Amino acid sequence: MSFPPTSITQLHQQLRSGRLSAVEVTRHFLQRIEQTNPQVNAFITVCAEQALQAAAAADRQLATGEAPPLCGIPLAVKDIFNTEGLATSCGSRILHNYISPYDATAFARLKQQGAVLLGKLNMDEFAMGSSNENSASGPVHNPWDLQRVPGGSSGGSAAALAASQALATLGTDTGGSIRQPAAFCGVVGVKPTYGRVSRYGVIAYASSLDQVGPLANTVADAALLLGAIAGYDAADSTSVDCPVPDYLADLNAGVKGLKIGLPQEYFIEGLAPAVKQAVAAAIEVYRSLGAEIVEVSLPRTAYAIACYYLIATAEASSNLARYDGVRFGLREQQDGGLLQMYEQSRAAGFGAEVKRRIMLGTYALSSGYYDAYYLKAQKVRTLIREDFNRAFEQVDLLLTPVAPTTAFALGEKTDDPLHMYLSDIFTVPVNLAGTCALSLPCGRDGQLPVGLQLIGKPFAEAQLLQAAQAFESATDWHLQRAPLA
Ligand code: GLN
Repeated sequence: MSFPPTSITQLHQQLRSGRLSAVEVTRHFLQRIEQTNPQVNAFITVCAEQALQAAAAADRQLATGEAPPLCGIPLAVKDIFNTEGLATSCGSRILHNYISPYDATAFARLKQQGAVLLGKLNMDEFAMGSSNENSASGPVHNPWDLQRVPGGSSGGSAAALAASQALATLGTDTGGSIRQPAAFCGVVGVKPTYGRVSRYGVIAYASSLDQVGPLANTVADAALLLGAIAGYDAADSTSVDCPVPDYLADLNAGVKGLKIGLPQEYFIEGLAPAVKQAVAAAIEVYRSLGAEIVEVSLPRTAYAIACYYLIATAEASSNLARYDGVRFGLREQQDGGLLQMYEQSRAAGFGAEVKRRIMLGTYALSSGYYDAYYLKAQKVRTLIREDFNRAFEQVDLLLTPVAPTTAFALGEKTDDPLHMYLSDIFTVPVNLAGTCALSLPCGRDGQLPVGLQLIGKPFAEAQLLQAAQAFESATDWHLQRAPLA
């Protein structure tokens, strides 16, 4: 079989025409995973048997001529999504032996179209991290340079794509976990508006910030996937009941006359020269396509990291209280009494970063400190959201780097949590504001990809994707494949 195409739309054509079968394609990807996963470690679970069964069912549906666009498309999801009958670890030892009893809504919607699940992807434990080094299943290696991190926390979701182990993936983004790994691995990643995609069945990290989104090789594929997973879900009270547009319909609308803002606080000293250069070149591409580029200000940007790491840890300390060794997952020690069982299960089950965050969050919420930390952070969050509202009165979109650097070396930041947290500086404000953003490849730092961030108004994903598509059509960064691919 010839190598299957790297975009969903192309593969769909070939499946429909009968030139390829879903079973053949699935076999190809399973083999690819087998060959490359020892080096990349993007997959925690591979479900070969179920995948081949799903592919056979997809082929039957394709034969009727009535197959939806995702029918037979090989995908994989971050191990934070519940997937019925499969192990779901969330990158943690505490969920050892936990088997999902049901499907997360976002994944269920893909499955309903006949998409083929290849397996579950590696991630930072409970999505806490920026490098995928906080995983009970070991670190993921970046397919562009195996000595480097893929980014996090959806590191497996980005690396699997870059290594051609799947055609698209799902991730989650609480403070940058889709966009930053997408940037580090040279793929497209979309963080939708809070409420756009159901979080039902997605293991919670920080519930007021968590959002599900697609990673893909092209903007069109990301648009197709977003359309499939978005929309109201009665099972998630924070999902918003507003119509989902056809994101593919006007994807080629272009950017003529669009006003794009450059927030001055995002073009700072400390930005790696190659990132600065690639983003500057991207700005020129937009100018040449007819967009109007203006400078704007998001004056509270400097407070975003502190604000995020208070709110996210506070919510995490509450969400993670449910892992007590009683209801699911790991249970340590049986005969020392209940309290001891809780303590020992949590001590053995959680990794160092998760423990650090539970302690930080518990402290921020504790009586006497609540007003000074948690309440203050909530007020700052409102101010940060106002910054975005004000900027969006002037412009349609914002353009920024995704991260100050490209993929850093494995081990480079593990001893210095604050240094690691600072790498989220350009992504966390978007989650605090609740709006949508995406990352797309825009250049190179030697061997390594550079990511461009576009930030849109709430629920303006269609416009965001159009702007991304305009850039993709004018450049060829998305066509460059990692050496391992
Ligand atoms: N790196 C950030 C954190 O560690 C964001 C993670 C995420 O978006 N899940 O919290």
